[in-house]
Amino acid sequence: MKIMVSACLLGDNVRYDGNNNYNQELVDFLKNHEVIKVCPETLGGLTTPRIPAEILGDKVINKEGTDVSNEYNEGALKTLELAKENDVTVAIFKRNSPSCGFNAIYDGTFTHTITKGDGITAKLLNDNGIKVLNEDNYQEYFKRRGIVKNDEEFIIKKLCELKYYNKKLTLPLGWKSNGEVCYRDFKDISGLFITGATGTGKSVFIDDLIVSLMYKNTPDEVKFIMHDPKKIELGEYDGIKYLLGGKSHSSLKKGYDMLIFLLKILESRINTLNKSGYKGIKEYNDNKEEKWPHIFLFIDEGSKIIKIKDAYKVFSKILDYGLDVGIHLIYATNSYLKDYASSKFIDKFKYQISFDLASLEQEEFISIKDSSWLKSGEAILKNRNGEKYIIKAPLITNEEINEVVISNQNQE
Ligand code: SF4
Repeated sequence: MKIMVSACLLGDNVRYDGNNNYNQELVDFLKNHEVIKVCPETLGGLTTPRIPAEILGDKVINKEGTDVSNEYNEGALKTLELAKENDVTVAIFKRNSPSCGFNAIYDGTFTHTITKGDGITAKLLNDNGIKVLNEDNYQEYFKRRGIVKNDEEFIIKKLCELKYYNKKLTLPLGWKSNGEVCYRDFKDISGLFITGATGTGKSVFIDDLIVSLMYKNTPDEVKFIMHDPKKIELGEYDGIKYLLGGKSHSSLKKGYDMLIFLLKILESRINTLNKSGYKGIKEYNDNKEEKWPHIFLFIDEGSKIIKIKDAYKVFSKILDYGLDVGIHLIYATNSYLKDYASSKFIDKFKYQISFDLASLEQEEFISIKDSSWLKSGEAILKNRNGEKYIIKAPLITNEEINEVVISNQNQE
């Protein structure tokens, strides 16, 4: 594993006063790892020694009152570039620094007072799915990895091995370590909350869900609506017969239109059920010639769309009433606000699937503290009763996805 580390912790004299923060314990720990050493402030063009600086509002101001935000931002961008080039997923950074500090920084008064906040580089890395630790918490984090790892090794199995499992809306979420398949039936689930840092298996898992539904249902039986701001993960399904509107959406404007469109379908189905007296989609479809398809709304990078007007209302409505009318929400995100509203929203999901998360704070927020640091493709499945299982998501290859996509393309 490659770990990015603040250069001053390794003994480089890059600190503002020309000294370092050498940490022998950390250096010993890193002997078994590949280290990417970095000092964001010097990368941003600042010299050593330099005037100390602290974050004040949205700027970085040095002790003489000069705005050095540009240099700090430049250093952050270059650090992120370096992390990406090296596939870094974890960083151990110096606490409290206006560049490297995470969750706690100096408060801008130059009085050694600590306040809540993130250094410029640490925040950028965290926003990009890299787990940021410091010299105080990295040991706990790595120790917990040991707990999860235990002696059981998961066998990697392919989604296609489950292709013929005959219940139409039953999804293979993965395998438990004893080899038992972990299924959940969407007849009982209005929503699935999926979280995890970049590169931990979250996207493969979403592919598992989509392809599994396509294996077992015709385009008349299930429909998809997809929103993916990056158009990377879900864009590959553009053109399939299952997709309402024929394409995934990436813009927030289109996302908004899509939510309103779906809300209308949901409300109209609720009205129809109320008038007809049918208890739910199953009874309705059993008695009607024109059947309702189950609609799955796939949201990737949910932290963006949740901010637009009415999004929370629509998602909540799906989670509350979707089961009756056959509308289901698959909501994936690698970050979310850690506030009361988000907590309430996450709690509405009957199941939460958590791949390795970007920060300890996020793990604590969704209460999986004792089960962090999973290997790629491994996730914690947590239900509303708080029961948790570690599962290994099925493997699906690009070839398998392409094959299913090509055979289900609209012919135009
Ligand atoms: Fe250390 Fe980070 Fe400050 Fe550089 S920017 S001196 S690595 S804390």
